[in-house]
Formats: sequence, C-alpha cells, structure tokens
Amino acid sequence: MISLTIDGKEVQVPKGTMLLEACRIAGADIPTLCYDPDLKLAGSCRMCVVEAKGRRNLLATCVTPAENGMEIHTESSDVIEARKIILELLLSRHKLECHTCESDGDCKLQDYCYRYGVADSRFDGEGPHFTKPDPNPFIMRDYDKCIMCTRCVRACDEITGALAINIKDRGHHAKISTAFDGNLADSTCVFCGQCIMVCPVGALTSKVSAGKGKPYQTEKVVTTCTYCGTGCTLALNVKGDKVVGVTSVRDIEKSPVNNGALCVKGRFGWDFINSDERLTTPLIRENGELRQASWDEALDYTASRLKGIKEKHGADSIAMFTSARVTNEENYLAQKFTRAVLGTNNVDHCARL
Ligand code: SF4
Ligand code: SF4
Ligand code: SF4
Repeated sequence: MISLTIDGKEVQVPKGTMLLEACRIAGADIPTLCYDPDLKLAGSCRMCVVEAKGRRNLLATCVTPAENGMEIHTESSDVIEARKIILELLLSRHKLECHTCESDGDCKLQDYCYRYGVADSRFDGEGPHFTKPDPNPFIMRDYDKCIMCTRCVRACDEITGALAINIKDRGHHAKISTAFDGNLADSTCVFCGQCIMVCPVGALTSKVSAGKGKPYQTEKVVTTCTYCGTGCTLALNVKGDKVVGVTSVRDIEKSPVNNGALCVKGRFGWDFINSDERLTTPLIRENGELRQASWDEALDYTASRLKGIKEKHGADSIAMFTSARVTNEENYLAQKFTRAVLGTNNVDHCARL
C-alpha cells in the first residue's frame, strides 16, 4: 500500500492505483470526458487534471499512477482555470443547441460547463461544419457536437471489434470518420450502437428515439432482451405508457452477460412494442377468417386438435418448435410437454443454428 494526501485527506491505496481512482476514493469529484472504465486509457481530454505539490505541470489523473507521499489538490485555482480553458476550447467548435439536443440532461459537456460557469468561448474555432447527412436508419452522427474524446473509436474497436471509425485529419479539422468519410452502412459498422453508449455528449444518438423524450423525461426499466438466448440486460426507456427507446445498463452487477453492450436488434428494434398490429388475444381461423377467442377457448381447441392428430396419425406426426424469444423455463416446459404428454421426441429450437 502507498499513502498520499488528497485535498487534505490521507488515503491509502494499493501501489499501481491510478491517481483518478485514488482521488475518487478520497471523495473528490474529478471531471472526465475521454476516460471510460471499460476502455483503454487515452489521456487526451485533460479534464481530470489536478495539482501535485512540487510538480511543475498539472497531472492528468487517469494516466498518472498514484505515488507514495503525494500531496494533491483537486480544485485549486490553477486546476479550475485549466478546466475552464479546456471547456472553452471545446465550445469553440461546438454547435451549442442544448434546448433541442437529444442528450440534454445527460451530457458531460453541459454538466461541466454548468459546474464551472462556462457559457461561451473566447476562442475562434473551426466549424460548425463537421456534420453531413448519413442515411442509416439507426444512428444520428452530429459531429458538430463532437468533443473528440475518441471513446466511440475505442468502443468500436475494443468492445465490438468492428473498427468502423477512426480520427480523420488533424488539429481543428480533426473529426471522427469512417474510411473515406463514407456512410456507416458502407463501412464495417454492424449498428450495435456501442458508440452511442459511450459518447459523453449528443454527437451520437439514436434516430429511432429522436424527438420521443429527453433522457430525464423517461423512466429506465431494467429488463432482459427478448430477441435471443444470450439474455442481455437493457433498460427500456418509458415515457407515459410508451416505450420510446433502449439504453445500456453499464453495471456488471446488473448486466453480467453483456455489461451494457447490445446488438442492433436489442438496441434499435423495440418499436414493435407500441405497434397496433400486435396480437393481444388468441385468434382462431374459422371458414378462412380469423376471429378473436379467449385463452380458455384457444387452449381447448389446440388440445383437441393435437389429441385428434395423435390418435389418427401417431405421436411422431407432431413436432414442437420453440423459440429463443421465450424463457429457458418455458422452453423446458415445452420439451417436457412434448416428450411426456404428446409422447414424441420431435423437439427443436430456433436458436440451435
Ligand atoms: S452535446 Fe451537450 S452541450 Fe452540446 S448541445 Fe447537446 S446537450 Fe448541449
Ligand atoms: S454502431 Fe457499433 S460497429 Fe458501428 S460505428 Fe458504432 S460501435 Fe462501431
Ligand atoms: S462522437 Fe462522441 S464518443 Fe465519439 S469522439 Fe465525438 S464526442 Fe467522443
């Protein structure tokens, strides 16, 4: 263990602990933009800088190991000044339109500008002119709100392995881009939306949820994705009595299967939930026409038909085909029913492929 002082408080941490973690253990609220606990360190935004006694430069805590005997100040006047300048530089190329932004209320740039009282920039930046239309149906790419934290690039590489995006050009002209700055659909993108999950601002948002509710207007209901047998945890975003989006649950305790990562179906394929065409009662076909039936009537009808087929053609003329969109327990019951009640081993499952 090593011992250091943070804002006058002595803390002990294991050797090798990064200063950011040590500061958080000491209760300091260190702002971060490029840092993400699940991604490799970039150390590029410098928002997490602190003052260390005896050091000439401010230290970026996310990439600096804590040292024995360090005396750290996390909110000194120099630290605050440095963070304000970083925010001003970011605003110099930012399309500031919080009132209509999908990330309003869930945006780190907005939070830190509020915290440090930065309303405008004294610097002349480049832009806004980085955004160009991308006709894909899922992801809004508004790079005039991008702060170049590269979290999306790292998530695309390290979580999904798609390597669809990277930094194009340098300095004021730098932007996130696919190869040859084309549309996402023409790249290796698989539309998993992990880039949306990690983006700390409103540069990457869901087109499917656009205009349906700001983050603070929706209740997040944690549940399990019904699309396949993997069983990823996700949060349905509910406004009134409607599902208006899906967001990640980035907590390994609550989301042990996927730790927030999703595929295109789980993240964007939820609008069927509100469809008027969904079945809400069983239907029985009579004289070529479907009519509504009660569950009792439908189950009695199905039982009599299965019984009739079994008597006439034998149990092996029946097969049960089940689905990954029901639970393991229901699948277990389905095979048990088929083997024990119907008397056939003709059981299969769509996820077997
Ligand atoms: S990205 Fe953040 S700061 Fe920029 S417009 Fe949206 S909410 Fe405001
Ligand atoms: S949607 Fe997934 S694959 Fe496409 S750019 Fe984002 S992280 Fe990469
Ligand atoms: S799009 Fe978002 S995650 Fe990607 S670099 Fe810009 S701000 Fe960061």
